Amino acid sequence: MTDTKKYGFTTSILHSDRQKPIEHGSPHKPIHTSVTFGYRDARQLAEVFQGKQPGYRYGRQGNPTVSALEDKVNRMEQGMATICFSTGMAAIAAVAQALLREGDHVVSSAFLFGNTNSLWQTIGGQGIDVSMVDATDVKNVEAAITPKTRLVFVETIANPRTQVADLKRIGQLCRDRGLLYVVDNTMTSPYLFRPKMVGASLVINALTKSIGGHGNALGGSLTDTGLFDWTKFPNIFDTYKRYVPGQWGMAQIRAKSLRDFGGSLGPEAAHHIAVGAETMALRMERECSNALALARMLEADKRVAAVYYPGLPSHPQHKLATELFGGYGSLFSFELVPGIDCFDFLNRLSIPIAASNLGDTRTLVIPVAHTIFYEMGAERRASMGIADSLIRVSVGIEDQVDLLNDFGQALNDSAGSDTLS
Ligand SMILES: *Cc1c(COP(=O)(O)O)cnc(C)c1O
Repeated sequence: MTDTKKYGFTTSILHSDRQKPIEHGSPHKPIHTSVTFGYRDARQLAEVFQGKQPGYRYGRQGNPTVSALEDKVNRMEQGMATICFSTGMAAIAAVAQALLREGDHVVSSAFLFGNTNSLWQTIGGQGIDVSMVDATDVKNVEAAITPKTRLVFVETIANPRTQVADLKRIGQLCRDRGLLYVVDNTMTSPYLFRPKMVGASLVINALTKSIGGHGNALGGSLTDTGLFDWTKFPNIFDTYKRYVPGQWGMAQIRAKSLRDFGGSLGPEAAHHIAVGAETMALRMERECSNALALARMLEADKRVAAVYYPGLPSHPQHKLATELFGGYGSLFSFELVPGIDCFDFLNRLSIPIAASNLGDTRTLVIPVAHTIFYEMGAERRASMGIADSLIRVSVGIEDQVDLLNDFGQALNDSAGSDTLS
C-alpha cells in the first residue's frame, strides 16, 4: 500500500510498519527485547542459520524492531536493502571492515565529519591507502584513482564547512570505472536528497541526526541502492556468493561487520528513531526555513566575517545544491570578525545549547576548532578551511523570530558599542 514511489514521503513512512502483520494491530512495531529467538522444530532453526528461510536467530545479527526500522530507512532511500547499526560511525566503519583488504585504495572527500577523518587515519595504519581530495570537483577524484581503488567516499554537504560534493559527476565516474560509490547522506537526510539519484552504491545515514531527530537515541544505517554490480567487486568471500549477486554486498556486510564486530542497534533505540522518523519531513522543512533566515541575517551583519550555508547565493555550490536538494539543510557555520571572541558570543546566546550533535529539534552551537575538530590539529583544520573562530549552528525547530532575536542580541552584546563603529 505505501510504496514510496506511489505515496509521498511521510505517508509511506507513517504506514511502513503495517506492511507486515503487527501484534494486536499496534500502529508501532513493538519493542522486542529478546536476545534470542526459539523454534519448535530444531530443523527450522538450522534452516534459519543456513539462510534457507527467513527468521531471527540472535539479537546481534537481527531483531524484529530493528528490522522494521531497516524497512523504513530502505523506503526513504528507495534501496534494495538496509542494515542498521549502533551509530553512524559503526555504519561507516562497516564499509571498511567488511569490504576492504590490505593493499586496497580509497578515494575520499577531504571535507569530512571529524571522526570519519580519524577512521581513515586508522585504516591507513592497517595497510589501506586513503587519498583525501577536494571532492567539490570530480577532476580531483578522477586524478586520485589507481588500479587498486575499491571505493569513493563523499558526504553530500560536508560537516561543518558545508562544501557540496560534485555528486552527479562523481557518480558517473564511479559507474564508468566500476567503483563502489559510498555517500554519507546525513547532512541532507533522505527527505532532502536521495543519493541513488546520482548513482550511489551504498548510502550512509547517521540515524542519530535528522532521522531520529530528537537527540535521544544513537543509530546508523547503510543502504544498498541495488545499482552496484557486486560480481565486479574482488573482495567478496565465496560463502556469500551462494546468494543472488545483488545480495552479495549486504550479506557480507551483515556477517563480517555487524555480526563479527558487533555494532548492533538496540531495539529501544530503534523504536525512538522510528517514532522520530515519522515527523522528519515536518522538522526538516522548519529547520531549513529557520537556517536560511538565520544565515541571511548573519551574512548581512558587518560583525560577521563569513557565513557558510548552501542556501546562500554566495556559497560556491549554491547552484548545484539548488539543483540536487529539496532544501539546504539545517546546518550552517560562520565566523565572527576579529575582535569578537567566539566563546563570548556563544555564552550570550540564550536559546541554543552549546553542544555537539546536529539535526536535533533544539538549536545547538559549537566552536568547531576547539571541540569536535580539536584533535586533528591546526594544519589539517586549515586544509579543511576551518578557522579558529568558526561556529557551527545546527538549527532546530524553535520559533523563527525567537532565534533571530537571540542571535541579534548576542551579536549586539558581544560586539559592544566601541567595536560597532
Ligand atoms: C554524526 C555524523 C556521523 C556519525 O554518526 P554517529 O551516530 O554520531 O556515530 C557520520 N557522518 C556525519 C556527516 C555526521 O554528521
